[in-house]
Amino acid sequence: MREKVGIPKALLYYNFYPMWKTFFEELGAEVITSSDTCKKIIDDGVKTCVDETCLPVKTFVGHVIDLKEKGVDYIFVPRVISVERRRYLCSKFLGLPDLVRNLVSDLPQIIDMKIDYYRGEEFMEREIIRVGKLFVDNTSKIKDAYEKSLKIQKVFENIMRKGFLNTEAIKIMEGKKPETNKNGDLKIVLLAHSYDIMDDYLCMGLINRLKSMGAYVMTTNMMERDMIEIGASKLQKDLFWNYGRDILGAGKYFIQSKEVDGVISVSAFGCGPDSITDDLLERDYKRDGNIPYMSITIDEHTGEAGLNTRLEAFMDLLRWRKGEIMA
Ligand code: SF4
Repeated sequence: MREKVGIPKALLYYNFYPMWKTFFEELGAEVITSSDTCKKIIDDGVKTCVDETCLPVKTFVGHVIDLKEKGVDYIFVPRVISVERRRYLCSKFLGLPDLVRNLVSDLPQIIDMKIDYYRGEEFMEREIIRVGKLFVDNTSKIKDAYEKSLKIQKVFENIMRKGFLNTEAIKIMEGKKPETNKNGDLKIVLLAHSYDIMDDYLCMGLINRLKSMGAYVMTTNMMERDMIEIGASKLQKDLFWNYGRDILGAGKYFIQSKEVDGVISVSAFGCGPDSITDDLLERDYKRDGNIPYMSITIDEHTGEAGLNTRLEAFMDLLRWRKGEIMA
């Protein structure tokens, strides 16, 4: 029987799932994901973590508990340090396997692969082989699995750049038909970590609400790297957090733009990096922006009614600016 590897449907799942799935399947494992986020998963995470933990990490812990209950052989909890040279992820990612081991009892084996591209390909190769040997004692098979997973990641990223959300791109990679994201007449950029906006339960269906109000939603993952780099080059000081820099770079790129109708920044309660990027974005848009900007913070208590009212008001403002409705 094939060994089961559980991948939590949270945090960087939205950025790397096709790649991770390919790697483990090529090694002969069966990949299982946790269920979609629901009240029980959030409650489990909230009960297990200390109050100060950010909402996405609490959610991740809830997903780990869900996988434990599903009875998998391994749970993949990578220690993601750097996904590109000279940039790092927030410290919560660095300590994720330790946090999970300390908070959740009776876990199956945790696969705590170190992902640190700053230390170079050689380091990554050693780490890939270490993890691959849990499944097969064949170095060239492990290297082939890794090479294939890298190619799959490129395909996944290219699909997103063609205008598909991360969740839609995952469906396409699985041979399913995604919903189209291109019907709306108002173009709105969401500045956020993918895990804050792709998880429908966590953000109370934000993207679908915007779509139903006539928005075409764009995210940082859909942008060409050049666009983000142009925006990031305008930062007074470079930011070493990988995804925070992408968010700020995208924000700077669109600040004077006529390509989009509005910008919404979405951050998670308890997130240190977001509190900085959010503040910088708000100041920049107040000072230099020529398009409407709104900031939304999500936490486990955010009410749907309040969110809807704010989105409706924002969309009305955009339509009023286009002359579609009277004041
Ligand atoms: S960047 Fe923010 S939301 Fe993401 S893991 Fe770190 S603290 Fe949590």
